[in-house]
Amino acid sequence: MPIRHDWTLEELQELYAMPLLELVSKAHAVHGQFHPLGEVQVCSLISIKTGGCPEDCKYCAQSSRYQTSVAAQPMMAYEEVLNEAKRAVARGATRVCLGAAWREVRNNKPFEEVLRMVKGITDLGVEVCCTLGMLTEPQAQRLKEAGLYAYNHNLDTSEEYYKTIITTRTYHDRLDTLDVVDKASLSVCCGGILGMGESVQDRLGLLLALCTRNPHPESVPINRLSQIPGTPLEKQPTISAWEMLRVIAVARLVLPQAMIRLSCGRIEMSHEQQALCFFAGANSIFSGEKLLTVANTPVDTDEQMFALLGLKKRPAFRQRSS
Ligand code: SF4
Repeated sequence: MPIRHDWTLEELQELYAMPLLELVSKAHAVHGQFHPLGEVQVCSLISIKTGGCPEDCKYCAQSSRYQTSVAAQPMMAYEEVLNEAKRAVARGATRVCLGAAWREVRNNKPFEEVLRMVKGITDLGVEVCCTLGMLTEPQAQRLKEAGLYAYNHNLDTSEEYYKTIITTRTYHDRLDTLDVVDKASLSVCCGGILGMGESVQDRLGLLLALCTRNPHPESVPINRLSQIPGTPLEKQPTISAWEMLRVIAVARLVLPQAMIRLSCGRIEMSHEQQALCFFAGANSIFSGEKLLTVANTPVDTDEQMFALLGLKKRPAFRQRSS
């Protein structure tokens, strides 16, 4: 299967509409071509600066615009972050993501602290990813020099639906930041959220935005909305695991080399549902008690799942197998 950057929405729609088992088996075949089967990377996400964000993302517990149970907290201390990273590595994580509820990176003391954290965690021998909002080329370069492996900046949904969810920045701002990340030779992590009231076309619009980038993002987190009380999306119905499965299978087909990460919302998925997602091409999970502010699957339950399904934990910095 060649790597393509010229997919069309119509092609993605055709894939999405295939009989489910046909779609999943096609995706599984491509998965086996590009990735060791049964290997799943465990990631850990540490919220180094929680809450008080000026942005208005309608799904987010950390926006200061909504009355949620998340209060603004000061930035975590270096030692605290390092200790949490060490605990994650000890339970098999090979990628540690640091998240800050900022609109953008500023050239200030907290940024210097982040650089120190990146260096300290990289020295543990794992991939470090940051999600800090928009950033400039010199800032991306400094992160790269500190050892940063990847930068996360999600597109969330299609360009058309984006403005329904966020008004404090544009899709283009997002794409510009992704270009900055690419230019700094950082690995791009970019995905989205399902279940925010978007149409199937919007979900495919997101995948289209990703698979027509050149190069493709190396990492694509697929979240299922966690309905946070107090946010405008608190009453959204949960999308079915079948819809999630279809999106993952299409993502695997159009982004064959990417790591497809089951992210937020996994806590509500059974082992059977997750197994199907792994079969269709998902090959990473986030482990730990929380995903930023939202409850995550207990670590013991994940260990049981790895044993039950015979999954292997993926090492850090694995070269692409094809
Ligand atoms: S998703 Fe990020 S940018 Fe948006 S409100 Fe939450 S913390 Fe802020």
